[in-house]
Formats: sequence, C-alpha cells, structure tokens
Amino acid sequence: MNLKIGVIKGDGIGPEIVTEAMKVLDKVAKRYGHNIEYRQLLMGGASIDVHGVPLTDETVAEAKSCDAVLMGSIGGNTSTSPWYKLEPSKRPEAGLLRIRKELNLFANLRPAILYDELKGACPLKEEITEGGFDLMIMRELTGGLYFGERKTEEVDGVMTAFDSLTYNENEIRRIAKRAFDIAMKRRKKVTSVDKANVLDSSRLWRKVVEEVAKDYPEVTLEHMLVDNSAMQLVKDPKQFDVILTENMFGDILSDEASMITGSIGMLASASLNETKFGLYEPSGGSAPDIAGQGIANPIATILSAAMMLRFSFDLDKEADAIEASVAKVLKDGYRTIDIMSEGKTQIGTARMGDEIAANI
Ligand code: NAD
Repeated sequence: MNLKIGVIKGDGIGPEIVTEAMKVLDKVAKRYGHNIEYRQLLMGGASIDVHGVPLTDETVAEAKSCDAVLMGSIGGNTSTSPWYKLEPSKRPEAGLLRIRKELNLFANLRPAILYDELKGACPLKEEITEGGFDLMIMRELTGGLYFGERKTEEVDGVMTAFDSLTYNENEIRRIAKRAFDIAMKRRKKVTSVDKANVLDSSRLWRKVVEEVAKDYPEVTLEHMLVDNSAMQLVKDPKQFDVILTENMFGDILSDEASMITGSIGMLASASLNETKFGLYEPSGGSAPDIAGQGIANPIATILSAAMMLRFSFDLDKEADAIEASVAKVLKDGYRTIDIMSEGKTQIGTARMGDEIAANI
C-alpha cells in the first residue's frame, strides 16, 4: 500500500518525538511491504520563523493532499518565547486551530490506556486498576457550547451572560457513526454520555444515537448521564470501551481519563473528519522545559502513528504490531524519565524509538 503522510514536526520536543514515530513507521513499512511518502509541513513557531505566520495557505493545501497528517506539537514557552509577543491570531496555536477547522476535524479520539506495567503511576487504588484498562473517548469537536451563540448584556439592570448549546441531528449522526465504527474494531460497546434528564440537546443526542445503533446490532449501547460518568471513570474504568459524547462533556471527561493513566507522555490522540483523513498527535504539548535534551517520551506519538494506520489506512495488523511492541518494551523494563520507577532501565528518546522499532 502507498501511504502519503504529511509530517508536522513542530516545535520544542516535536521534532524529537516525531523522528521516533517515523522510525517505527519505517520499520512497519519494511516489515509489511508498504511504501511511505512523507511530506514535511511547517506549522506553529517553526512556520512563524520561516513565513511570519503559523500556517500558510500552501501548507493547508499540502495537508489536504495527504492521506493523513502526523504531528508532534507546536508552541514554545509562553512567557519567554518571542512568538507570544505577536498578536493572538499570529501565535503558534492559531495554526492548530486553523488546520482543525480547514480540515473539518469534528471527531476527537483520545484513548486512555493503563498498561499493567505502569499501574504505579495511576492515582487510583490497585484493586481498581488490576490488569490495566483500555478505553477510548470520542468527543465531538466542532459543535455544542463552544461554537454556539454567546453574549453578555444587562437584563433588568443585572449583567447577564448567555452561552447556547446547539446540536443538529446531522452533527450527532456523523459522530455517532464514527463511534460505532470504532467500537466494531474494539470490544463492541458504546457508552453515550449526555445530560438527557435536563437538556433538550441531550435528548436529541440520545434519540439520534439510538437510531444509529440500529445499524450496528453487534454493538452494545448504553446511555449514561455525565455526572455519573465522571464518577464511574474513577470507580471502575474497566467497564468502558468507547465513550461517545458532545464537546464540553468530552473536554472534561477526556482530561479526567488522561489523568488516571499516569503520564502525558503516553497519551495518543486523533482528530478525524468524514473521510478517512485524520490528524494524529500526542495529547501533550511541546514541553519546552525538556526540548533538545533527548529525554522526551516518544510513546504517545508512536501510538498516535498506530492510530493513523488503524483509522486512516485500515491497517489493523500493523497498528496492533506497534501497540504490542510498546507493551513489550515496557514489560522489558525500558522507561523514559517521565515514567521511570525503581528497578527499571532509564533510556532516552531515540533509544525508546529503537527498542519499539526493533520489536516490530
Ligand atoms: P506540555 O504538555 O508541553 O508540558 C507539561 C509537562 O509535561 C512538562 O513538564 C513537560 O516536560 C511534560 N511533558 C509533556 N510531554 C512530554 C513527553 N512526551 N515526555 C515527557 N514529558 C512530557 O504543556 P505546557 O508546558 O503547558 O505547554 C508548552 C507549550 O505547548 C505551550 O506553548 C502550549 O501552548 C503548547 N501546547 C501545544 C499543544 C499541541 O501542539 N497540540 C497541546 C498543548 C500545549
């Protein structure tokens, strides 16, 4: 298979961690007989330094011409970097917001996996996390409260603010379909999270999700109120497979889910549109505090590359191979500094990439 992958190495630790993900992808390509063409794209601070803006029209067009984009992270130290003396629309993060919008990336996927070997980093009690857990949050990214009409005005002499939470059935249907498709590749369970006891938007959400579920008879659907979901995530995270939810609930629950896995350096993410196209990136930022030292954890980016193979290219076997290799390397006791614990072998960014590639 020919894979055309846009690569945004980005800023800070971005180039270091993306280099390791490419090393692993190259090994997969060699082992399974694929051909990868990389297109290097500039975004964020790296683009400001060359073009004066965080994202150019040409880069957007190039990204659109690729099958998928793999990204490191963008941005610098927000107190000291000259990029943050620019007006907000010219700063590194403006590039990220624009590319998400231009590519219509409405579905944000964040897996939260607790590897048995890293359970010491999890703040939950051992009896809850025994055997690890593996869940996927599917958050709607382009609708709801964050994009609804808002205003602040005086009503009867009192300052009053309004934010509106709007979803139409098409927006709900497309994300629900994505969630069920992904559940079919996993343990075939979808938990749809809403606040249907209070909100009209949630009642429509529930109705449309139930309609979509009819096309997926193998998938078990359950509905859960968001307040209960927040409790269940820390009480019994193993019960979840795919959690499907709207923008704001997903924002909050995905941060809660990431916290219970222990380290930001392990968390992959994907943002998808209606085609097979996706933008794949680690959940963390550019970590300027450790950039250039060769100590960043590349696993989140490597696992993001595995998600890319699975969701944009349907290369499940290859994605499985990367995930299994990460688990093996952790089992063998290799750790970057952020996940280091007593009795394990501390290694740097490049060596972690080498070990994971070697196990493919
Ligand atoms: P950060 O995620 O970059 O760093 C927070 C902490 O986690 C730091 O101590 C860092 O060293 C550590 N960390 C992060 N990734 C790591 C890894 N792979 N291995 C080991 N340790 C890791 O968050 P921040 O410091 O708030 O932000 C720094 C910059 O990143 C800012 O400019 C911010 O805007 C940007 N940012 C970018 C993205 C993105 O590109 N999608 C996301 C979040 C933040």
